[in-house]
Amino acid sequence: MNFTFITLFPEIIKSALNESITKRAIEKSLISFQTIDPKDYLESKERIDDKVYGGGPGMLLKSEPLMKALDDTFSKIDRSESKTIYLSPKGNPFSQETSEALALEKNIIFICGRYEGIDQRIIDHYVDDEISIGDYVLSGGELPALVVFDAISRNIKGVLGDDASLDQESFSAGLLEYPQYTRPEKMKLGEVPKELLSGNHAAIDKWRKKQMLGITALRRKDLLEKIKLSSEEKTLLEEFFDELE
Ligand code: SAM
Repeated sequence: MNFTFITLFPEIIKSALNESITKRAIEKSLISFQTIDPKDYLESKERIDDKVYGGGPGMLLKSEPLMKALDDTFSKIDRSESKTIYLSPKGNPFSQETSEALALEKNIIFICGRYEGIDQRIIDHYVDDEISIGDYVLSGGELPALVVFDAISRNIKGVLGDDASLDQESFSAGLLEYPQYTRPEKMKLGEVPKELLSGNHAAIDKWRKKQMLGITALRRKDLLEKIKLSSEEKTLLEEFFDELE
């Protein structure tokens, strides 16, 4: 899968992608990426920002270099096999579900905004989806693009060492993950729950499911409301709250 980042700050992207899981995925040719800087498409030594029509504070990323950067991208990548995403606080809220759907694409192009954003005509002409990573405003689209990229790439087969770990994570079954522990079994901060030490897989699965249901009920009622609980799950949830008291 190929990712293109259109950004005024390519080094932010390169330094993040040159570490850890992503670095290994690139070395294994599971993913590839390129950065394109709209500044390289300026006619002369002009500025890359421009005033907003109608007045008001702030500037926009200049339209024509951005358009040229996108046209150049699509002269090398088939647009019909690509998804172009503009990172924006006005966008659709990003979710695990969206990341899984985007992992099926061949090419993803991220447009990282700066200043007050980009010209609406660029969005209308090139962008397939606007994505927000949360209800707050950041200074640029690079960090949101990296967040979206990271979540997508984890879904690509082979990127994580153990693909099975995907099924166990938060949101995979619409629930938050259970608590996890590592050695030592006893420390001054407390002990590992006895169910996890039992060696009984059914008991471990039951404890984990109970924790997933309980923690989701405590922290994210909205997620739980989307799920139809079985009678066994309802009992586990009751047990979770009984044990809290
Ligand atoms: N004027 C814009 C608004 O009020 O919606 C905010 C522009 S912001 C200062 C600059 C850039 O950061 C945006 O063009 C966008 O690419 C990125 N950005 C900021 N917050 C974001 C968020 N929550 N999700 C995704 N992208 C964001």
